[in-house]
Amino acid sequence: MSAIELVAGLEVHAQLSTRTKLFCPCATDGFGAPPNSRICPICTGQPGVLPALNRAAVRAAFRAALALGCKVEPVSIFARKNYFYPDLPKAYQISQYERPFSSGGRLDLELEAGGARPVRIRRIHLEEDAGKLLHAAGSRQLDHSLIDFNRAGIPLVEIVTEADLRSAEEAAAFVAALREMLQYAGVSRCDMEKGELRCDANVSVRPAGSSVLNARAEIKNLNSLRAIRDALNHEFSRQSRLLAEGGRVVQETRLWNAEAGRTESMRAKEEAHDYRYFPDPDLRPLEAPAELLARIQAELPEPPAARRVRFSRDYGLPPRDARLLTARKELADYFEAAARGRSSEAAKAAANLVATELLARLNAQDAPLSAARIAPAELGELAGMVCGGILSSKGAKAAFSALWDRGGRASDAVRELDLAQVSDEAQVAAWVRQALADNARAAADLAAGHERALGALVGAVMKLSAGKANPVVATRLIKESFKA
Ligand SMILES: [Zn+2]
Repeated sequence: MSAIELVAGLEVHAQLSTRTKLFCPCATDGFGAPPNSRICPICTGQPGVLPALNRAAVRAAFRAALALGCKVEPVSIFARKNYFYPDLPKAYQISQYERPFSSGGRLDLELEAGGARPVRIRRIHLEEDAGKLLHAAGSRQLDHSLIDFNRAGIPLVEIVTEADLRSAEEAAAFVAALREMLQYAGVSRCDMEKGELRCDANVSVRPAGSSVLNARAEIKNLNSLRAIRDALNHEFSRQSRLLAEGGRVVQETRLWNAEAGRTESMRAKEEAHDYRYFPDPDLRPLEAPAELLARIQAELPEPPAARRVRFSRDYGLPPRDARLLTARKELADYFEAAARGRSSEAAKAAANLVATELLARLNAQDAPLSAARIAPAELGELAGMVCGGILSSKGAKAAFSALWDRGGRASDAVRELDLAQVSDEAQVAAWVRQALADNARAAADLAAGHERALGALVGAVMKLSAGKANPVVATRLIKESFKA
């Protein structure tokens, strides 16, 4: 049997970062809040109310489209998607169907070996979220269901890709790249644990390299990168096995059961006509003025992938460090503020302090970057002092600790803690003379050409100077004393 390949496309729902819902003034901060504490007659579908479109949500949606290289339509239409389910109080969802606001973009997957592979974006549309059914109260299972409408009416964009993904790993990598892009562009916080980024996948298999389109399963409920990877791997095995056994894949909707580690049949896949889509008579067509789009385009930040390339090139950072520093926009901004106007060597030292000291503390305290009291310019100052021989890397760590605890200026911390290295030749030479006298054996070894003795002698100088001698100067002076 020839090799089988996976063919997958994704539908990603991202919650737009707005204070209020898509069509009413209710707050969007309902995650973890008491059930039904963020609701009103509009988002609970009471008779006689009218939706009022949230302009901030529209701007965020346009930002998503432009960041993904999509075309934004001058006019698009809101449609009603009709279906009955208790989490949908109006019995229809306001979405977009035949005329979405955006189509035809792409996002490049960065490949491990370098280079990139484009994944095409078919369309992006705006829609409102539904409520949430609760089947338990705390740890107690209920014999009935409760409904929390805090999520009903939350603004979402649905981003639909072409079936360009060829493995579970690629699908997960795509969602990670998309999340990064949406966060950079300020479209969505994309906190998957809070349901701010959710994913469905359309999955089929076929002989590798062929262009046949086999029946596909739509897998729902992929709410983490791990779920995407595991569910697609499982579905690939299931469909491959079916074909190998002479069976047939049926078009259906399947649910990912993370606990059981398998996809399970949920229902035959609906067709669009099942939803009886029609234009929403309560909402005017959505307009996208050219000036607004131009302004949003101009305000978009440098994309993360481009920033990685620039960090490697301009600051000489290895790819791993460039990736770490650009994973979040605010961290990349912090690093650039620290490295601004400094040599490439000092930029590397700054990258090192950010990657080790700063991130370690933020992670340990589970704190956002905004909680850091050490200003980027002061971290840059520390990096400059390391490169200038004023601070040892150990001294830089001590100074960093002080600045982390109480903020303030790097130069003050170094002075108060008496951390500056001694590079004064006369002073270091005195320590070197003393060290050579105290360690006659090591001195003799070095004189006989045993380079290993050098380390012991430098160590002796550091000990004599209570760690303050500049080890570079000390090393040079020890070597020179044997050339004379
Ligand atoms: Zn409301």
